[in-house]
Amino acid sequence: MEHGDTPLTDRIDVTVPSVARMYDYLLDGKDNYPADRAATDQLLRQVPSMKVLALNNRHFLRRVVRVLAEEYGIKQFVDHGSGLPSVDNVHEIAQRIHPDARVVYTDIDPIVLAHGRALLEQNDNTAVLTADFRDTESIWGSEELKKLIRMDEPIAALFVSVLHCIPDSDDPAGVVERVRAKLPPGSFLVVCQLVSEDEETRRGVTEFMDVSTGGHWGRVREPEDVHTYLKGLDLLEPGLVEVSTWRADNDLAPKQLSNEWIEFGGVAQL
Ligand code: SAM
Repeated sequence: MEHGDTPLTDRIDVTVPSVARMYDYLLDGKDNYPADRAATDQLLRQVPSMKVLALNNRHFLRRVVRVLAEEYGIKQFVDHGSGLPSVDNVHEIAQRIHPDARVVYTDIDPIVLAHGRALLEQNDNTAVLTADFRDTESIWGSEELKKLIRMDEPIAALFVSVLHCIPDSDDPAGVVERVRAKLPPGSFLVVCQLVSEDEETRRGVTEFMDVSTGGHWGRVREPEDVHTYLKGLDLLEPGLVEVSTWRADNDLAPKQLSNEWIEFGGVAQL
């Protein structure tokens, strides 16, 4: 899963926008390149609500980790498609509550490994892997994960704003199902993804992202798809919702600008 001594610049093509770096730009991060910024600016012209949507998604991630650690005593997190390090990453929130909390970050983009390593060097309870979350076995069978995650203790498996990155042919519901099958009782699945009720918005954003990322994207789906991923599981209150309303605790969080498309999801307990 690692790339030995190959320099990062030989492994990443900064002329093709990457989802991780576009998202970083939306969150006012510094780890993005002109192609990422140009594509994001163009997307913002098409759907101006994108920035608020990204910020609200990140707030949701932070609230979920805090609630699971604080209220449910969760000390183990496996973050699929974690993105570039930002303010208040999963391990920072969880370790503030449980100093011994353990976190495995995974992302398909090698730049995440490079930046993650720099952040995590001092932390023995975290690992970052370059891995495709469709490849459940290689993530859950990795030495890094086995070293940190105990399979007889509840785990929170995160799929936050990532399942829209894979096409239907790669079976997002099947990916969630495979991870669900690995989790011990009392574990949690956290899922949200971009959805829209409007066919035109779904088509427009999907086409734009697919072209911008050189065909490396999935699709904006419908809210029912997210229900399918978590079918049969108990949902924590308030269920599956537009994520800025999931246990909202901060009046300073930006308000959704529009309902044309939203991050939709929630938390299920096994
Ligand atoms: N989960 C983070 C959050 O909510 O703040 C980041 C979300 S960002 C919108 C999507 C991330 O998923 C990017 O970092 C991208 O590189 C990653 N990603 C996309 N497809 C992936 C795949 N098949 N396997 C692993 N990571 C993937």
